[in-house]
Amino acid sequence: MATKRTTTRRPAKAPAPVPCPDCTTGQVSETFQVGGRKKRIATDHQEALCLTCFGTGHAPTS
Ligand SMILES: [Zn+2]
Repeated sequence: MATKRTTTRRPAKAPAPVPCPDCTTGQVSETFQVGGRKKRIATDHQEALCLTCFGTGHAPTS
């Protein structure tokens, strides 16, 4: 009679998502230049998709 092992298998815990270091919502605001000959930075910002997390808001896991 084989001894019965009493190892309890833990349920696989999903790793906590790591927030993206470059954004918080998956989007970043960046400045853009306006003007023809004399470039200047516009005061407005445009929303752009975060290229680090591709809009998910979480750091990519590899
Ligand atoms: Zn991001």
